Amino acid sequence: MLVSQKRLFCLFILVQLGLGLKAQSQCAFAEEWALRIDMDSRFSNRMLEIENLLQDRIQDLSQVETRSSFQIPVVFHVLWNTEEENLSDEAIATQLDILNQDFTGQNPDFNLIPTSFKSVATAANIEFCLVSTDPSGNATSGITRTRTFVDSLRIEQVYYSSGEGQDVWDPERYLNIWIANLENNLVGFGSYPGQNIPAEDGVVIDYRVFGLNDHPRLNLGRTLTHEVGHYFGLFHPWGDGFFNTDCGGDDRVPDTPLQSSTFSGQCPDGLSSAPESCGSTDMYMNFMNYTNDQCLHMFTQGQALRMLASLLELRPGLLTTDVCTGASQPNPMTGVVHIGPNPTDGTLYISTFLQRSSSVQVEVFNTQGQRVYQSSWENINRYFSHTISVASWSNGFYFLRLDIGGEELVQKIIKI
Ligand SMILES: [Zn+2]
Repeated sequence: MLVSQKRLFCLFILVQLGLGLKAQSQCAFAEEWALRIDMDSRFSNRMLEIENLLQDRIQDLSQVETRSSFQIPVVFHVLWNTEEENLSDEAIATQLDILNQDFTGQNPDFNLIPTSFKSVATAANIEFCLVSTDPSGNATSGITRTRTFVDSLRIEQVYYSSGEGQDVWDPERYLNIWIANLENNLVGFGSYPGQNIPAEDGVVIDYRVFGLNDHPRLNLGRTLTHEVGHYFGLFHPWGDGFFNTDCGGDDRVPDTPLQSSTFSGQCPDGLSSAPESCGSTDMYMNFMNYTNDQCLHMFTQGQALRMLASLLELRPGLLTTDVCTGASQPNPMTGVVHIGPNPTDGTLYISTFLQRSSSVQVEVFNTQGQRVYQSSWENINRYFSHTISVASWSNGFYFLRLDIGGEELVQKIIKI
């Protein structure tokens, strides 16, 4: 059987088993893992060898290594057909900022972790930078843009210039992140160390769940956090399968409890009744779950060690280059409040996590000081998001004033 036929056959079997719940999937990890096992008879043994390497390295991690912070050079490959898919540099900077926050425990919702899990939540001490040098040694913005001529792409198409995609930059020196309009409602895929051939090593993400966006569940940029977790050797908390109803699956991390649910499409608040399964409280707020973005808050110490071991043992080339030197660093516009895109031509999104129940007021003024927009709310809890349609506004500068519980923030907005 040819590989392509085999892949189709596997997909057919998965759908027949009722596992083809792609519309609900966070990522393609479980599906790609199952396909690899079926297509490559040596895959399981290779993954077992990698697991042994990882476990040995985790045992040997020194205090120095665990205290250090590591910087990972990133190149984004934007594959676009419509203007909407051609995400702006600002959108990419915002996503990079979110990724850095999530991997350093600086995410503003870190304080929403339930008490019972606070002791194991930690900063992974991995940071990400846009590269300033391409594989040929030329200056680069760290972003490539490739026009495609198809509506959407299969995951395996994104990796190759010959297939409407973009060829990988040396995967030993760069974390390659492809952004595309993906087929089959897939939102992303992060290749586990050693899972893919080098030409296909990296992270793929759908443009609709990238950065701050208007997806109903995956709107805060956590899909990339999740996929980069896979890239650094993390499994889903329920293991490498599609679900875990018998509690037999595990993620090889000791401080993440066993769980049966994937939390796909869910957002438990953990306050009234924390979900339980497999004999313990579920860590639904772990980035490696399928929980909605606004309820994801943390990695554990065990996951941080595993990612660090993966980096040092299996992806060490990422640490040997200085391709980030002089790179333009992400420029978070406003810190914990996300306002964008900016410039904007159609819609402006505002979102932030709230420390306490607060009133929120949004006003926008033109350069003559005239108020052109106003809206306000009382007793907003936990998370605030709002959308302003600016399509009918004249082009030019505006000032957005945001008042949250008496704290004021003013942000210049550009309408184009
Ligand atoms: Zn996943």
